[in-house]
Amino acid sequence: MAKPVMLTVDDDREVSRAIERDLRRKYASEFRVLRAESGQAAMEIVQELKVRNNPVSLFLVDQRMPGLSGVDFLERAISLFPDAKRVLLTAYADTDAAIAAINDAGVDHYLLKPWDPPEENLYPVLDDLLEDWQASVPAQFEGIRVLGNRWSPESHNIKDFLARNHVPYQWLDIERAETDTDIRALVDLLDLDEKRNLPLVIFPDGVRLQRPMLTDVAQKIGLQTRAAKAFYDLAIVGGGPAGLAAAVYGASEGLRTVMVEREAPGGQAGMSSRIENYLGFPSGLSGGDLARRAVVQARRFGVEIVSAEATALRLDGPYRFLKLADGEELSCHALLVATGVQWRKLQAPGVERLTGAGIYYGAAITEAISCRDEDVFVVGGANSAGQAAMYFSKYARRVVMLVRGSSLSTSMSQYLINQLKQTPNVQIEFNSSVVEVHGDDRLEAISVLCSTTNEVNQVPANSLFIMIGAAPNTKWLADIIERDERGFILSGPDLMRDGKRPKGWQLDRDPGLLETNVPGIFVVGDVRHGSVKRVASGVGEGSVAVSLIHQYLSKVV
Ligand SMILES: Cc1cc2nc3c(=O)[nH]c(=O)nc-3n(C[C@H](O)[C@H](O)[C@H](O)COP(=O)(O)OP(=O)(O)OC[C@H]3O[C@@H](n4cnc5c(N)ncnc54)[C@H](O)[C@@H]3O)c2cc1C
Repeated sequence: MAKPVMLTVDDDREVSRAIERDLRRKYASEFRVLRAESGQAAMEIVQELKVRNNPVSLFLVDQRMPGLSGVDFLERAISLFPDAKRVLLTAYADTDAAIAAINDAGVDHYLLKPWDPPEENLYPVLDDLLEDWQASVPAQFEGIRVLGNRWSPESHNIKDFLARNHVPYQWLDIERAETDTDIRALVDLLDLDEKRNLPLVIFPDGVRLQRPMLTDVAQKIGLQTRAAKAFYDLAIVGGGPAGLAAAVYGASEGLRTVMVEREAPGGQAGMSSRIENYLGFPSGLSGGDLARRAVVQARRFGVEIVSAEATALRLDGPYRFLKLADGEELSCHALLVATGVQWRKLQAPGVERLTGAGIYYGAAITEAISCRDEDVFVVGGANSAGQAAMYFSKYARRVVMLVRGSSLSTSMSQYLINQLKQTPNVQIEFNSSVVEVHGDDRLEAISVLCSTTNEVNQVPANSLFIMIGAAPNTKWLADIIERDERGFILSGPDLMRDGKRPKGWQLDRDPGLLETNVPGIFVVGDVRHGSVKRVASGVGEGSVAVSLIHQYLSKVV
């Protein structure tokens, strides 16, 4: 496989050579380091790389150059390599321009010159970005390949599962077999049964799974699907930011900790293309990146991460038993519910039938590349819809946001509203709701109602991404854990009614902060009644819960 390219651009020859030397010293074994001394010369290299289909991992570009400035160059270069990481080199006086470039050119980082010593000021930043790039870009490699149909929900589910578990894969769309010789050659090698039973997942060791269940894929890629021990001090259900934070704190403080996650660690945050308000990341970071870091951290402290769904809860004295979807049970002293929320379904004729075949809940980042140069419709007016629109705008010809209300100001952060306004291929339609979708086996059109005129218009559409709020999925706990009328779990003072403790509560104290109506069962994050639905608050609650769990354990163990 061709080594991915790192391209550095600086008009000062001495500086340019120094950067090249520093990059080669550390990265030459894995990357091809190229250098240019002007924005124009660099654009010629970039175009040549595109023609040759060589991957570009990083642009490291001086801001102040005659002709094309660093930001101007990046704006052009990223239209050819949208996934490449972008670092701007600036002098102190250009810091404002660099900060503005975070939005304009999607700059991932800016470095002040000089960066000596590189071990401290250059390599850590680049290591981080390159790791992120490698984790998120499906490169041309000899890894897992998924052959299927773009409009098949099963294909979508497998791609989504692999991507969210940070497993690189190559997607081969059977519809492109006529024009893509690689796909054609592969299809020709398959037997009839395999061609009829797509998706087909092909592993590097030659194993081929036809229409596999996600648990089969999980096992094959080495995810742990069963708990290794029968008993834990702390079991956590849900691996979103709240569950992950609790796992890190729990295990780092010596608790035998297991985290059960049914899809992929990261939860909703893992679906976010860019979280910009999480403390300590001034250029923002993708949810996938946040999740990947947290998983590494949790594993380092010895957290066991089990890829499974918790389906039932049982109590026996001080022991809490979790039943998993495969029928296995695990037990613990303290249980933390961090199951978050899942997308609310859009109730309109046709939507359920075509989900996965052009209709997706959430940003479905895996589908973005398939939408290149097409029109994409996004339903919703909150931050998640805004982030998705910004993300798709890098690939799609046009992104149309369908917003039920008459403005975004009450539902979306101002920084996102500003970004949307400045993005020419994003169009926002207010007072608009999808009332029906059309198509036989894939989405072909949507009917949109305008609430001011009461008119319904049918418009052609291939892709519709729905982000209209979320609801908790806590029915499996309903017999034991007290919930509010919408299914969010009650805890602490919210459980007290007219000064009385919850039914069945036998301890000589009130339920503590984040504690449910069952002693030793705690709740954190979005699934908790009254929680603030943010990454930072989930992380905060997950961390605080561990200290409360310690207090609980000190009395029962
Ligand atoms: C697209 C998008 C963008 C966002 N952007 C931002 C942002 O920029 N800034 C910000 O602060 N917040 C943002 N948020 C909100 C933020 O992501 C959530 O508040 C946060 O993820 C909540 O964390 P959580 O751990 O409580 O739950 P979740 O993230 O919902 O995680 C819950 C996890 O539990 C798992 N689970 C559920 N039931 C079970 C079960 N029975 N068994 C096993 N596992 C189970 C789920 O698969 C999921 O992984 C965004 C949300 C979305 C959807």
